[in-house]
Amino acid sequence: MTDPTDAASQYWDVIIIGTGIGGATVGRSLALRGLSVLFLEKGGRVGPNEEGNTAVTPESRVAQGWWPHPLTRLQANGDRKRFFAAVGCALGGSSIHYAAALERMAASDFDALHTPSASTPPWPVSFGEFVPYYESAEKLYGIRGESSEIAERRMSEWDRALMKQMRQNGLRPDPLHVGIRYDEQCKECIGKVCPRDCKFDARVACIE
Ligand SMILES: Cc1cc2nc3c(=O)[nH]c(=O)nc-3n(C[C@H](O)[C@H](O)[C@H](O)COP(=O)(O)OP(=O)(O)OC[C@H]3O[C@@H](n4cnc5c(N)ncnc54)[C@H](O)[C@@H]3O)c2cc1C
Repeated sequence: MTDPTDAASQYWDVIIIGTGIGGATVGRSLALRGLSVLFLEKGGRVGPNEEGNTAVTPESRVAQGWWPHPLTRLQANGDRKRFFAAVGCALGGSSIHYAAALERMAASDFDALHTPSASTPPWPVSFGEFVPYYESAEKLYGIRGESSEIAERRMSEWDRALMKQMRQNGLRPDPLHVGIRYDEQCKECIGKVCPRDCKFDARVACIE
């Protein structure tokens, strides 16, 4: 009999490279259907840190949950520029850093689009076909679908003041749907790793 802790000696139905929202969500779903799933992740389990995407050595970047190497951008003038992208490398991928705003696309986003300068064809699938998948993903990532009024009650004083100011200026702001399990100690870990697992990232929602 093979040692269950020795991944290389076992037969796996599925091997998924990367534990970001994409890989982790699919892997969890396949595992729940009874398939054995091996996740291969380049990064480690990263705890909270205050550095943001500022580290420059490969080791320190991985230690803080960021992709270790710079990417190259081709600029409009033809020059190539190296930069560190905001891409995660950790158990949970980029989602350990993300702002957890999880919105649906609008039904009209699936339609053909015609502008004076260009046309894009409609999607080959409709918004309606996505709805059951949206529903199960929203459940998994803690989206509550509550009214704007209730969502606003949970907002920080700062956000409420911002909403009020926008309304006074004639705008119609609406709170985003976020995958955060708000409680009294919640500090809304937007752009950073949540120390209390109340942000639904791929690690919290799917892997662990
Ligand atoms: C600061 C920040 C805020 C964001 N806020 C939001 C938001 O509010 N709402 C929203 O919808 N999106 C947001 N995003 C974007 C969102 O987080 C990403 O689009 C999403 O998490 C990408 O998921 P993914 O699975 O496609 O890839 P990733 O999360 O990039 O995961 C890929 C994983 O694969 C691993 N990997 C890659 N290659 C290999 C290899 N060869 N071997 C082993 N492992 C490998 C990587 O280490 C990584 O962990 C934000 C992103 C950042 C950085």
